[in-house]
Amino acid sequence: MKIITDERCTLYASPGHPERPARISKTLEKLRSQKTLAITWAEPLPVTEEILLRAHSKEHLARVKAAAEDFDGDTPAHPDIFAHACRSVGGALQCLKAARAGEAAFNLLRPPGHHATRDRAMGFCYFGSVAIAVLEAVATGPGKVAVFDFDVHHGNGTEAILRNAPQTAFFSIHQHPCYPGTGTRNVGNNCFNFPVAPRTPREEYRRILGKALEEMKKFKPDLVAVSAGFDAYARDPLAQETLEAEDFHWLGQSIRQLAIPSFSALVGGYSSDFPELILAYLRGLDGS
Ligand SMILES: [Zn+2]
Repeated sequence: MKIITDERCTLYASPGHPERPARISKTLEKLRSQKTLAITWAEPLPVTEEILLRAHSKEHLARVKAAAEDFDGDTPAHPDIFAHACRSVGGALQCLKAARAGEAAFNLLRPPGHHATRDRAMGFCYFGSVAIAVLEAVATGPGKVAVFDFDVHHGNGTEAILRNAPQTAFFSIHQHPCYPGTGTRNVGNNCFNFPVAPRTPREEYRRILGKALEEMKKFKPDLVAVSAGFDAYARDPLAQETLEAEDFHWLGQSIRQLAIPSFSALVGGYSSDFPELILAYLRGLDGS
């Protein structure tokens, strides 16, 4: 299991904001102290403007670089956020490289990213690391790439960037109604949404996750990129869902059992049990 991180991703914060850097530092402590999972650590790859411009407008990149005012109520303008956001994308690119070499990989970086659209930073996200890595995968290799997004919020930015993009498909399972309010129906020729009502019983939630996985298999992807959010957890403060750590382990196992090269990137999860949830998912992915 390859984990891509950079401690600098914990160096920015906003008081009271749920996207807290301690989530990452506590997870790193937990992963470094556990003995059951064999981990190799890696750093993000450098990111070129050309790679970012496949997903974003020049104006959007300029705005994030300047970071003069908050992008929205959830997405503050931190100093150096452009560099942080680039490292997060570079982590996803390193994941892609590992997946192509046959190694399961996990991007453990902030900022997360599945809400940022071509022209807008939103919902804690400045760029869309997974969408950018998917476009890079399609541009540099043969085959089809699917995104499986199990974060409890709809990955509206990933959808906006990948909508109708050749050789790609997007599958998202998320609570509705919930932030950002999109994802109620399929869009374009390649974006498939699975909205789940608040307080959906755990067994039913898992059945819907399983259904989305089956739909993704029909697309016959050569590579699977996972937007891994841990906020459908029963005790997450931002949503009203019911999953337990065991369900994230099962998700990891299910991705592993696809027997398709894959990588996962952290996109959400706000409970204090966050490190345990990530470890459960990684153990599932690893088969341990
Ligand atoms: Zn989320």
